[in-house]
Amino acid sequence: MLTANDQTATLTVATTAERSAAYFCPGCQAPVILKRGLKVIAHFAHRAKTNCQLFAEGETDAHLTGKWQLAAYCEPTQVELEPYLPVIEQRPDLLLTTSMRRIAIEYQCSPITIAQLDARNRGYRQLAIEPCWILGDTYRLKLTKLGQMDKFLRYSDKYGWHLLFWCTTTGELEIWAEIRSIFGDS
Ligand SMILES: [Zn+2]
Repeated sequence: MLTANDQTATLTVATTAERSAAYFCPGCQAPVILKRGLKVIAHFAHRAKTNCQLFAEGETDAHLTGKWQLAAYCEPTQVELEPYLPVIEQRPDLLLTTSMRRIAIEYQCSPITIAQLDARNRGYRQLAIEPCWILGDTYRLKLTKLGQMDKFLRYSDKYGWHLLFWCTTTGELEIWAEIRSIFGDS
């Protein structure tokens, strides 16, 4: 996770957190450790194995890196990192707020079932938040079967049916546009 609560329950970002202070998971309130260094992407991690529902451990470097990069990419739109939405008990990776709409960005690096995806999307729509799934390298490099990607297809007049990817090595958004039938036989 990129953010954690300090002792006064103030949400603090890992890049600017104090090393000597105590921090707690915004999901389960358990103590978390600040990890930050030359070779470590700034983040917080649970101290011990956890049943935390909101922040399952095992966030990969790619996931953490992608979240930081996407947050920077989305500025100057108002970006909130991992905000907790209590009504639906969900925590998107990023929440963008413009004068017109709110968009929940999920940077997806790991497998997810259609049922889980639908449940998350339903939650966001309940709050009139538009879900936006951006896929990580495991999807982009087709390490995941193509058939596993069709559930993320989006439609717009500009791009037709398309998929969004975020590449952490280049720090760029990639759009696979005008997708027609490539998923049909996979
Ligand atoms: Zn937790």
